[in-house]
Amino acid sequence: MPRLYTGHCEDGRAAVGGTTPRRSRILEQKLDLAEIGIIGGSGLYSMPGFTNIHEVKVETPFGDPSEVFVLGELAGRRVAFLARHGRGHRILPSELNFRANIYAFKKLGVERIVSVSAVGSLREEHKPTDFVMPDQFIDRTFDRSATFFGEGIVGHVAFADPVCATVAKAAYEGCAEAGVVGKLGGTYICMEGPQFSTKAESNLYRSWGADVIGMTNLQEAKLAREAEICYATVAMITDYDCWREGHDAVTIEEIVAVLHKNAENAARVVKAAVKAIPAARSCACVSAAKYAVLTAPDAIPAAAKEKLGLLFGKYFGW
Ligand SMILES: [Zn+2]
Repeated sequence: MPRLYTGHCEDGRAAVGGTTPRRSRILEQKLDLAEIGIIGGSGLYSMPGFTNIHEVKVETPFGDPSEVFVLGELAGRRVAFLARHGRGHRILPSELNFRANIYAFKKLGVERIVSVSAVGSLREEHKPTDFVMPDQFIDRTFDRSATFFGEGIVGHVAFADPVCATVAKAAYEGCAEAGVVGKLGGTYICMEGPQFSTKAESNLYRSWGADVIGMTNLQEAKLAREAEICYATVAMITDYDCWREGHDAVTIEEIVAVLHKNAENAARVVKAAVKAIPAARSCACVSAAKYAVLTAPDAIPAAAKEKLGLLFGKYFGW
């Protein structure tokens, strides 16, 4: 029988899902605390409009998520908010524990994630303050863990369409309702950072047909797919990347003004998107990992079963 420990952190915040010392013999259980997850990126460190707020610290077999989760109601839905880089923006893109973040959402019961991310534009027509809902990614990272598999269990999920079209459409509709210029579709280059691109790189990405460039969303999308969580990105354009003539003339004041405006807009877009997400899931994300695991069931190590029971146990009777 799964057992859960509900205790309190030293600072008095609720802690959920930590297991008892007998953990080595038990699997973790999904909680039913939220249905929609929001990841706030640069500029969006909290979620205005939340009601019935409380904070929870979620423990995972992959370590600590970026921050405590803020649970509450938004547009009548139960939502969990996570500040991707932690409060005060403390965590580099390369330092993010993507696995812990996505696992924790799964553990909270989240089935959909709207991920907000600040990006640079690679296209003249995508202007600062426009929001893009990409439907493709290109990977230019090299220093990150982006799978729950490994350590004795091998699995491959389909990723040809890396974004949940239903959630992306809801975000696009959210832009319209919030009066923000939204673009449905596009390619997001995910780079390692933390430095921005060289001009040669920026022009190369343009030649590949990419639309926006950021540092965080691809790993989230991959892990959400393995975890069978619907995932879509809201990419808020802060500036043109360095390919564009006049890039160097942009002042810090101008960039900060755009960041503030984007954060204000994001809060309204996310609220409208949450409202627009259908209650029931009918997309392929729901069973994305059904046939993923290639390892023979009797060859899967006990430790892997324990670690991944929450994600894949239902397919194996763990
Ligand atoms: Zn989906």
